[in-house]
Amino acid sequence: MTTFKEFDYARPDLAAFESAFKEQFVALRSAASAEAFGAAMKRVNALREDFESMANIAQIRHTMNTLDAFYEAENDFFDEAGPVMQGHVTEYYRLLVGCPFRDRLEKEWGSQVFRLAELQLKTFSPEVMEDLQAENRLGSEYVKLKAAARIMFEGQERNLAQMVPFAESRDRDTRRRAKEAVAAFYAEHDGDFGRIYHELVALRARIAGKLGFDSFIPLAYARLGRSDYDAAMVASYRAQVREAVVPVARELRARQAKRLGLPALKHYDEDIAFLSGNAAPKGDPAWILAAGKRMYEEMSPETAEFFGFMTSRELMDLETRPGKAAGGYCSYIPNEGAPFIYSNFNGTSGDVDVLTHEAGHAFQGYRSRHFELPEYHWPTLEACEIHSMSMEFFAWPWMESFFKEDAPKYRFNHLAEALMFIPYGAAVDEFQHWVYANPDASPDGRKAAWRRIEREYLPWRDYDGNAFLEDGGFWYRQGHIFEDPFYYIDYTLAQVCAFEFWGKSRADRAGAWKDYLKLCGLGGSLPFTGLLLEAGLGNPFRPGTIARTMEPIKAWLDGVDDMSL
Ligand code: ZN
Repeated sequence: MTTFKEFDYARPDLAAFESAFKEQFVALRSAASAEAFGAAMKRVNALREDFESMANIAQIRHTMNTLDAFYEAENDFFDEAGPVMQGHVTEYYRLLVGCPFRDRLEKEWGSQVFRLAELQLKTFSPEVMEDLQAENRLGSEYVKLKAAARIMFEGQERNLAQMVPFAESRDRDTRRRAKEAVAAFYAEHDGDFGRIYHELVALRARIAGKLGFDSFIPLAYARLGRSDYDAAMVASYRAQVREAVVPVARELRARQAKRLGLPALKHYDEDIAFLSGNAAPKGDPAWILAAGKRMYEEMSPETAEFFGFMTSRELMDLETRPGKAAGGYCSYIPNEGAPFIYSNFNGTSGDVDVLTHEAGHAFQGYRSRHFELPEYHWPTLEACEIHSMSMEFFAWPWMESFFKEDAPKYRFNHLAEALMFIPYGAAVDEFQHWVYANPDASPDGRKAAWRRIEREYLPWRDYDGNAFLEDGGFWYRQGHIFEDPFYYIDYTLAQVCAFEFWGKSRADRAGAWKDYLKLCGLGGSLPFTGLLLEAGLGNPFRPGTIARTMEPIKAWLDGVDDMSL
């Protein structure tokens, strides 16, 4: 059995790939039967998986040790090689959607791959190549501007990440000053953030025009592979959030204020849930990992097999150490059928979240590795987060083994925070719809729109007289708005579905688990709402779904004596 460190790596020879693709394109064009076309498709996909396997191994090894010059050079190589590969895939997609045997092939491969190919083709033409590069540059400018933050606080210059612990301090004055200092950084660069976004909005409107769209909104949906829902359906979902989630979130904020001994929350109080501190794991990283292993062994035969695969093949790198890149992610190496989990354990409840959330992604990748089409290894992004967020809930009965006496505190806060996130996510989404429906608005007009929308979704939000935040500057910190337009709502859609699994698993754990397994095994072979149907989940776009999902959540939260936590 080969372990991750024994996986072979060699830099792909781009010239050889190009001639291999060209050979298959000839075969696809001249295919005289569905069988011949399908055989060439398989060879194209094998090439894609060879390339992707090497790209992902290089990326993982680079993040595992950023000081390793070899994989740094390999990582740079893939930055350049990725778009070249994208060009080949686009050509393949063109042949696929124009295939004369489409009916026959759809019977064998399903129609989702054709839908995805059609959407991808709509998002690109050589005419917009330079605009796309400009879009990337503006995104990078935003990242750099944030990364350059040097905030003088408590006698030291600090970056934005280093400000987080102060903003979550149990001492109210410390967190107030920390939040003010962070807001001051954004206020100081108001002109830059406003301009970068202004240019991005204009550029995206231009790209949409060149590609034949009325506005950027449908283009953004196509980029995200959304084939089964549109902006009007998402608007009706947000209306349900306003009706069924915002009032519950508002009550939870009032309870939070009471727990903190405050008459009402100011914006700098929102990130602290308990005066006694949040639940933290009761052991070191090795102890947490051992508890995680036991949990997956006990949870089900399927998770036991999965976690055994991950550990015996050393497909996890969890502990932080010098030279490791920040963050956490789940990757997949198609040629090995192997997911990979990467993180930086730091002794907080976030370590347990990695073992439940990222492992949920990895579990789905493992359950979907039988698919021959790379498109079906993962679904679209809103569906991807259902696997991870639901696994967080399926893991609830084992929280005592991580948090001991703090487990009730962990569970209450986990559910409350997940719920309170939904209105914010919906506000970010409504804001973006407004922005791209009004591409000629001014930077100040956008800030005013944000504040108006924020008041609807986060009616408790009190900026304590901070002029910049009162004027609508909060969203500058939300990178998705700049870099990944319209993606943010996906987290809320998935959360609602995970809530449904939470409710089902409490009423009928075996039944809920069966549905979850089915969902994970379907990978990306269906669009979002198609997956929901197969997994027995409600459609969040249908009126009434959110209210129904919220009922058991609210009842459970109401039943907890949070003052005693
Ligand atoms: Zn995730």
